[in-house]
Amino acid sequence: SGKWARALSILTELEEKCGTPSSKLKQVADAMTVEMHAGLASEGGSKLKMIISYVDNLPTGDEKGLFYALDLGGTNFRVLRVHLGGKESRVVKQEFEEVSIPPHLMTGSSDELFDYIASALAKFVATESDSQHVSPGRQRELGFTFSFPVRQTSISSGTLIKWTKGFSVEDTVNSNNLDSKLAAFYEAKYFVGQDVVGELTKAIERAGLDMRVAALVNDTVGTLAGGRYNNPDVAAAVILGTGTNAAYVERAHAIPKWHGLLPKSGEMVINMEWGNFRSSHLPLTEYDQALDAGSLNPGEQIFEKMISGMYLGEIVRRVLCKMAEEAAIFGDTVPPKLKIPFILRTPHASAMHHDTSPDLKVVATKLKDILEISNTSLKLRKLIVEVCDIVATRGARLSAAGIVGILKKLGRDTVKDGEKQKSVVALDGGLYEHYTKFRTCMENTLWELLGEEASENIAVEHSMDGSGIGAALLAASHSQYI
Ligand code: ADP
Ligand code: MG
Repeated sequence: SGKWARALSILTELEEKCGTPSSKLKQVADAMTVEMHAGLASEGGSKLKMIISYVDNLPTGDEKGLFYALDLGGTNFRVLRVHLGGKESRVVKQEFEEVSIPPHLMTGSSDELFDYIASALAKFVATESDSQHVSPGRQRELGFTFSFPVRQTSISSGTLIKWTKGFSVEDTVNSNNLDSKLAAFYEAKYFVGQDVVGELTKAIERAGLDMRVAALVNDTVGTLAGGRYNNPDVAAAVILGTGTNAAYVERAHAIPKWHGLLPKSGEMVINMEWGNFRSSHLPLTEYDQALDAGSLNPGEQIFEKMISGMYLGEIVRRVLCKMAEEAAIFGDTVPPKLKIPFILRTPHASAMHHDTSPDLKVVATKLKDILEISNTSLKLRKLIVEVCDIVATRGARLSAAGIVGILKKLGRDTVKDGEKQKSVVALDGGLYEHYTKFRTCMENTLWELLGEEASENIAVEHSMDGSGIGAALLAASHSQYI
């Protein structure tokens, strides 16, 4: 029928507009490299903030002792304890505890919140066993992970610049997603412009705890540290989760905006905040434009809005909405649930995308459970899987292009004089971890862009839990006792 033809033409147009041939991705990678240079040249020189992390020493494996980490601002609020045994014994023991923030504190003062965090930390410290003590006369040390852009002023101080994961108002109000609730609450009341470490330190003192915040780290920097601890060839880290970001090791003399002393190591970790990347080469569609316009941070985090777990499901929903409106794919009226922003989450889209049953049972179930749509034809379910595929493929291929941009900046995207310098990229985040087709496509695209020869020297590694153990490792490598 004419309606089905209309649906197919919407699909074809989507496919065209989301197209990411190698040639285009190479332009994206080049643009990423150019923006990296600009962001390193001067403060505000680029959409890429290229934040100096003050991490000039990455873990080597020699670290010894008991270290703590606090992970605030991701999906979970956690406290961790890691017992490091040096080269031979590595991570002897690691323990963590998940702490939820009681609702009444969400309307309280910032001091109350920090007091709650500090007392949770104190309780956790009290569970140290007899064999797990810091050496006599030493202070306990903590790595503090905060996965939002912080303007660092030293390894252990910084202020929040802005909130990034643009949660929609509906999403915040309606969802049971802890992440989005916490986001709204942090943004509204507490952190913007505040010295997060200063506030935490004061609360730690009020709790009677003798502990120093040794490192304030972004989760990408933590992932880089965790990756490096396991593999000395790790040169960059990328997070593909609710949001997306990357960090990498830069030569300190290649950072014109750095006016401090050159670190002994000659290196400095840069938190790119690559989610805010944008370029005329990015394949933007009407759906992206509408999503951006309706977001809390229009015009910002454009790369993130095309790639990350916060948004992929929402892009799919917007396409299905258009097909429902203009091609009546779900009947004469648009299903009311389909009109609700962010109702279709990326894990749902991923489940539909991975449906291997001959009659696409999973797609049918998701449509029914989430969107209250029943009686769909197999043909229609196939169309929906196609939409998921187009959206995820674009995101995965753009992520690969971003990684190539970093490798280019480091001069590691090509083999020079038969050199066999290995470069490993550490990856983490729920999207990378759980969305198999996304991960596979991203990795394949990386090899496609790099070519056979250069690919031999590049590896991708899943570096788990950078926001936890990575932060503790950075507390160790920036300890006051070394
Ligand atoms: P955060 O980025 O908030 O620190 P994670 O790294 O754990 O948290 O990533 C969580 C995100 O990963 C979710 O918001 C979701 O978008 C994505 N995700 C989780 N599970 C899946 C899944 N099965 N398929 C696709 N995406 C998933
Ligand atoms: Mg995280």
